[in-house]
Amino acid sequence: MSDKDQQLRVSKIQNGTVIDHIAGGQALNVLAILGIDGTSGDSVSVAMNMPSDRLGHKDVVKVEGRELSQDEVDVLSLIAPAATINIIRDYDVVEKGRVERPSVVEGVLECPNHNCITTENEPVDSRFAVGDDGVRCEYCDTIIRDDLPAHILAE
Ligand SMILES: [Zn+2]
Repeated sequence: MSDKDQQLRVSKIQNGTVIDHIAGGQALNVLAILGIDGTSGDSVSVAMNMPSDRLGHKDVVKVEGRELSQDEVDVLSLIAPAATINIIRDYDVVEKGRVERPSVVEGVLECPNHNCITTENEPVDSRFAVGDDGVRCEYCDTIIRDDLPAHILAE
């Protein structure tokens, strides 16, 4: 596919975010991270297992009318480290970038340890150090390896 085709495909939404190069099969987890379950009326399109030179298969998510926050991009990077984020305004790509794995994610994941200080009614934000094979709570050392989306704090 040529760059121009790519551009046309990406530009089909008027305003919003296109998340490209998500590892095949992770699109639904990306939606979970973004809190998109279809009830808010957001217009979302999902393409799964598209052929990709880089990844073999990739998923693509387009979210109309919404630009991702840095927090959202940070968590996204944990399950879709190769993803590219395209911000679309008025059918144009105004911003294009790869996600970067942060060294720490703060206030976005819930510690699974019920005795952890961050899960009590204390004004303590969760802090997880990001490693190669999971994230580690900086307060109680609990490690989350799988199913990160299930640990995302509700807004
Ligand atoms: Zn903890």
